[in-house]
Parts: sequence; C-alpha cells; structure tokens
Amino acid sequence: MSIERLAGLVRERKPCVVLTGAGVSTESGIPDFRSPGGLWAEFDPLEYGSIEAFRADPAKVWRFYAPRFSVLTEAEPNDAHRALAALERAGHVHAVVTQNIDLLHERAGSRDVIEVHGSIRTSTCPGCGERYELARVLELLADAPVPACPACGGVLKPDVVFFGELLPQEAIDRAFALAASAGLLLVVGSALEVHPVAGLPYETLNAGGAVAIVNRGPTAFDSRATLKLDGSAGETLAALVRALRIPR
Ligand SMILES: [Zn+2]
Repeated sequence: MSIERLAGLVRERKPCVVLTGAGVSTESGIPDFRSPGGLWAEFDPLEYGSIEAFRADPAKVWRFYAPRFSVLTEAEPNDAHRALAALERAGHVHAVVTQNIDLLHERAGSRDVIEVHGSIRTSTCPGCGERYELARVLELLADAPVPACPACGGVLKPDVVFFGELLPQEAIDRAFALAASAGLLLVVGSALEVHPVAGLPYETLNAGGAVAIVNRGPTAFDSRATLKLDGSAGETLAALVRALRIPR
C-alpha cells in the first residue's frame, strides 16, 4: 500500500527530484563511512580525511585511501541505481542530487546527476592544476602507492570533497534550485544529517512541494515528510518501478 502511495506522489507531484545518500550505495558493497562502526568511527577524519591532513602528508592519506578507492571503483550499480535511471528515462524523475562520490548513478544510466560532494571521476594536481581521469589515476596507482602527477610530480588529489573543504558551489546552487522547484523531493538512503544537503527538504517544503523518504532507520525529517518508507533502497525503488509500470 505504501508503495502505491509513493507511486501516486511521483505521478501527481511533478517534477520529482531525488536526493540520494550513502544508503543507496551500501547495497553495492560500499560502506557508509559516517555510520556507527563505519570508517570515521574507527579513524580520525581530521588525520586521514581532511584537506589539512592531505596538505600536510598526502602520501599518508593515500596509503589509507587507496584500498577504499579500489572498493569504490570495483563496485557495481544495484537495483536502486537502476530503478532511478529507469524512472528518469520514463520522465518520472527530473534529476538526481547525490552525496555519493562513486559514479554509480551515472554508470546505471542516470543522465542528470548533481554530485554535491564531488566524485572520483577526476583527480587534480595541486601543483600544476592538471586534471586526470579516473582510468589514468588507477594506472598510476597500479605502479605506485601514491599517484604522482606525470607533468610535475605533485601528489594528485581526488576531486571529492574532503573534510574542511568547501563544497562545489555550482552543484550546491543547482541542488537548492532543484529542491525549490520540486513537486516531490524523494530522499533515498540519507539520514539527512549532513549539511547543507540536510537543508534541501526544507527548501522543497517551503516552496510548497512534498517530501517522501526511503531510508533504513530514522531521519532528521521524518516528522515533516508526507511519506516515510523504512526499508532497502533497492527493493523499495524496484517496487516503485513496478508500481508505475515502467519498462526496466
Ligand atoms: Zn602537476
């Protein structure tokens, strides 16, 4: 019944903008770094995940980061990513705003993806500013524990937002504009605890739109949401695709 209600909201409250968080990618085997027991509970993000740490000792950060980097690049899109791509193709989803850096939405076929925390698509040399595609960075990582810029020898930094770094302003502006224009903001796999993304549902609500949430466990916005479904992102979105009778 609740899937039918969600399908009804998607049909009636267009455009639908989707906001995804780590919960969408955990089903692809990518751990949620911020969860209790996750990476940042075990390791101090200031020592390994911050821009200050990277500037002070990029090799140390890469030794820590490289194994996680390969988990990200070897992961495959799951049912949730595929369902969102199918919903976009069918005209039900306008755009996907994501906190994830893993490129899985794009690899599943989503076309309009706004990456508010950056992504692993490219890495940039802080020395000379040269930018390298992921495939090239993986080649460099295969040869050395730390990817050095072939042009100047500087240690490359992935174009993901580290702690203490500013978010990409263009992506943030677009995310807020999309949230304000949304008839429905569908939040999937995010506890809505990380700012400024946590502010997006308020943007939608204040502009007269509705918010629906699919997440395992509570979120900061549950009491204000029109609909909350507690469950797996993959199963729930696959059921939504079936309820809307969309070809996969
Ligand atoms: Zn360089």
